[in-house]
Amino acid sequence: MNKCKKKLIEGIILILLVIYLIFSVFCCGIFFKNKYTNENVSFYYNDIENYNLNLSDKASLDNYFYELTNKLKANPFYNPEKKIKIFICDSYGLYTFLSNIIYKSIGQTRTFGNHNFIVINKTDFSTKKVISQNKTNNIRNFESVVLHESTHAFRTKIHSLFNRFSLPVWKEEGICESIASESSYKIETGLQNFLSGKSDNSKSYKYFEYRLAVLYMKNYEQLSYEEIIKDKRNLSEILNNIKQIPYKDIEIWFY
Ligand SMILES: [Zn+2]
Repeated sequence: MNKCKKKLIEGIILILLVIYLIFSVFCCGIFFKNKYTNENVSFYYNDIENYNLNLSDKASLDNYFYELTNKLKANPFYNPEKKIKIFICDSYGLYTFLSNIIYKSIGQTRTFGNHNFIVINKTDFSTKKVISQNKTNNIRNFESVVLHESTHAFRTKIHSLFNRFSLPVWKEEGICESIASESSYKIETGLQNFLSGKSDNSKSYKYFEYRLAVLYMKNYEQLSYEEIIKDKRNLSEILNNIKQIPYKDIEIWFY
């Protein structure tokens, strides 16, 4: 292949990649047939049969979205300036496409200033659960996913990547999990593993530990989210402190 032809192919691939990124991030709406909007929050979804509902359930689904939007307003980081678009996938194929190949996650958020795009993996509205392609710890309540991702959205000023510089990942994710009041990891198993020192390298367990650390600071040390953000201690320091506390006293932070 001559140099000129190689450059042309590389150029075409680059253009296709840019088109894909623009479509998958900024034009998600074209992949969904229905939209429900309440003030600054919009939910995008497809035929409701694809989410295990009947056609007659549409009004109650819209009402559910309305109530969920009101719950978002109770978020301590709520910001009415933020425009939140939530795209609810009805298939793994659509999520894989829209998530830019981070296809095993439950959901993800992209922020550009006040514009926030939340993409949520395959959802079953008959049970109100989101199910990812992971083999274990892959199910979460839809509501907790929306609360987790919207906390990222409310907290992010320019782009979520910049959050990594202002706050350690464990604290950012721990705060979101604490507000969502749920982890994909089972609480009992998580606490048993934690207190016995049994290792688990899964992302699900890591997020469980992040939530545990923030719950300790909030419930045991009685710190506000603002104080938690300013705190200079690292994750292992916090986790070592928690290890001194009996199981029954830790467990109540989760309920
Ligand atoms: Zn997150």
